[in-house]
Amino acid sequence: MTTIKHKIDDAKDLHDEPFGDVVLRHLIYSVGKDKTHAEARDWNVAVSLAVRDRMVEGWIDTTRHVYARQQKRVYYLSMEFMIGRMLEDNLTNLGLLSEAKEFIASQGLDVETVLHAEQDAALGNGGLGRLAACFMDSMATTGVAGMGYGIRYQHGIFRQTLEDGWQMEEPEDWLFEGNSWEFRRPEVVYEIGFGGHVTHDADGKATWTPAESVQAVAFDMPIAGWEGDHVNTLRLWSARQSGMMNLDTFNDGDFMAAARQQVLAETISKVLYPGDHTPQGRELRLKQEVFFTSASLQDMLRRFFTNYDNLDNLGDHVAVQLNDTHPAIAVPELIRILMDLHGYTFERALEITRETLHYTNHTLLPEALEKWPKDLFEHILPRHLQIINMIDGHFYQEAMAKGLDHHIIAGIQVIHPHQQDWVRMGNLAFIGSRKVNGVSALHTELMKQTVFHDLHTMYPDKIINQTNGVTPRRWLLECNPGLAGLITEQIGDGWIDDLEQLQKIAPLATDAAFQKAYRAVKSANKQRLADMVQERTGITLNTDAIFDTQIKRIHEYKRQHMNIMEAIALYNAIKADPEGTKRGAAWQPRVKIFAGKAAPSYFFAKLIIKLINDVAAVVNNDPDIGDKLKVVFLPNYNVSMAEVLIPGSDLSEQISTAGFEASGTGNMKFALNGALTIGTLDGANVEMLDHVGEDNIFIFGLKADEVAERQHRRARPSEVIKNSPMLQQIMSQLSDGTFSDGETERYRDFLTNVGDHDYFQVIPDFQAYWDMQRQLDGLYQNAEAWFEKAILNTARMGWFSSDRTIRSYADQIWRAPHKMSGT
Ligand SMILES: *Cc1c(COP(=O)(O)O)cnc(C)c1O
Repeated sequence: MTTIKHKIDDAKDLHDEPFGDVVLRHLIYSVGKDKTHAEARDWNVAVSLAVRDRMVEGWIDTTRHVYARQQKRVYYLSMEFMIGRMLEDNLTNLGLLSEAKEFIASQGLDVETVLHAEQDAALGNGGLGRLAACFMDSMATTGVAGMGYGIRYQHGIFRQTLEDGWQMEEPEDWLFEGNSWEFRRPEVVYEIGFGGHVTHDADGKATWTPAESVQAVAFDMPIAGWEGDHVNTLRLWSARQSGMMNLDTFNDGDFMAAARQQVLAETISKVLYPGDHTPQGRELRLKQEVFFTSASLQDMLRRFFTNYDNLDNLGDHVAVQLNDTHPAIAVPELIRILMDLHGYTFERALEITRETLHYTNHTLLPEALEKWPKDLFEHILPRHLQIINMIDGHFYQEAMAKGLDHHIIAGIQVIHPHQQDWVRMGNLAFIGSRKVNGVSALHTELMKQTVFHDLHTMYPDKIINQTNGVTPRRWLLECNPGLAGLITEQIGDGWIDDLEQLQKIAPLATDAAFQKAYRAVKSANKQRLADMVQERTGITLNTDAIFDTQIKRIHEYKRQHMNIMEAIALYNAIKADPEGTKRGAAWQPRVKIFAGKAAPSYFFAKLIIKLINDVAAVVNNDPDIGDKLKVVFLPNYNVSMAEVLIPGSDLSEQISTAGFEASGTGNMKFALNGALTIGTLDGANVEMLDHVGEDNIFIFGLKADEVAERQHRRARPSEVIKNSPMLQQIMSQLSDGTFSDGETERYRDFLTNVGDHDYFQVIPDFQAYWDMQRQLDGLYQNAEAWFEKAILNTARMGWFSSDRTIRSYADQIWRAPHKMSGT
């Protein structure tokens, strides 16, 4: 028998066993099937477990090293992780991909089918959750001792289907077939309290007695970096009933009462984003935030105490990053632990907290900054509310000492002292953190000028920029093996974890042979995309068309409606001049591809989806149009779909109203894969312009200050429409039923929104957008010119690697070491 002590040495033997043998062993002994009965999913599990075995070794090794070196730890707290599938990612990082593919093929199986027989882990909505997932990959790759903390939702983001062109939501059940990657840690469990009351003893020491509590149980997933030597952990918390079910109640026959407590407790980790239109939904959401934040803090402090005996210098050894305000409750929770459980004074507890926590802001919309009704907050977190009042009192003194006016102070305290209505989580996160970062240069600048203007005046060194990035492993190496192979052939594979090396292909942008190879890769990727569209929608695409793609959450600020209006205008123009004789040039064929989910309660976003499908139904079936224009809406956008759409696109739509997209990361993925960007000067597009150069990105429209100015004076779109026959025609078609089977009411709200108010400035940007699209039509017909730009995009996007972002956080925010520290 072996002992735990020798575990790693024993694991070494595993390395000598051929990978295929390990897979077969798992198929039989872990999955419990033989080859003749195994289905794709069974093989997927067996392969996954075989890779996981290899990861565990590096995992234990990394843990040992971090302990031994007492390396500073970084904890990334995020309500969302948009991971996608993990098998190919792990095979790639462990260097096992080709061996695994060969083995799967040798068993007479279809490689893609086996690798893809895994549900996406879609524990998020969009960019914010995907950023967390890219950061996990990059922390492991750059050697940061990082750990992600989140919630193990039983149901991730809903599955989107279409019914008559309208979005329908169905529950998603990613855990139904099990999760091959996770380890349940029943011994890692914490109590999370809610409600109850607080008493103070003679010395003023507080004791909180919660009225109810639930348990958080840990589930761990190993996260291997590139080449697999550094393996971090993603720890997701699952809720369960505290204490056992009451057996007496059960035996007395009241099964419902016995089950009730269990159901209520488990509800906390049941779904991502419970609907917040009911008080129960809002309470559940607040409890979810407290649940995962408190469990994570308790867990990191338990670990801290295995090395240190007091919390005085917590911030020297631990850095916590709050991904948006969802975990902002960490501020009073950490202070509570320091004061009530470890005897620190309030002032000292606040200092230690402000040395440890950091906050990433993701939105400038004041209405999107989280706030909780004070009554609800007090009901669930009575002790935390007392601490927030102490923070506000202390903050008031600080602000007065800095000479701020008390009206201004009232506006930036956590709770407004006169209104006493809301607990404002953005202010709480800001006041309680050491650094606050925006996610692109423009967004950070606007943060200083708008949402956090007064807080910035008070703490001018707190706000810092960290422009987002994307992991080149998933978003180039894995999703685009053709391009990755071509690049490696030219410059070696050093780019995979040093993406700026892509610069080396820039001189090849005009090289005929390289262009030819690059174009062949794009064609193959377009074919793969077209096959997916065919399979899922029955629509046949012409791969000579420009594949023009907008994939992201459906939202007015992202302006999918401007894009579909442009499709209508193009349809009208082609109808009026089918051969292009009047304009003097044949039409460049185009495919407009859309995908994205609308929040279930966001009616206007759902109406945009319906409009896209309505326009598609007319355009795609019009014999005058043929292949010149196709409109496609692919349901159920997720990471796996993005991995096909991005490499197969020619044109990337990044057309948000300037000043509204904090960064975007979809924009980066597309440009890295050689799609040209049509976009506004918004979010990270601004920095992409700096990097790829103005000849290689297609920027149009109002700038952020112009948008703000028009919104401020409530500029109306009517003047612009009056002077634009093109817009007039679109508006009248939307009211006369051209795209709605003669139904004239369907788009009434749309016409009011865009035609009368147009808060998101679709109308004033429309002509510039149209003109830029026609310029791109022309450019596409000159393949050499187009592909020169595409290649230069790939070559110059290296800076947008999330490895760069993580090193920058590590140096400038976390003060944490990584593989390249000090070099
Ligand atoms: C990258 C990504 C996003 C973010 O896209 P944006 O265009 O930046 O909004 C959203 N969802 C998925 C699945 C992604 O991969």
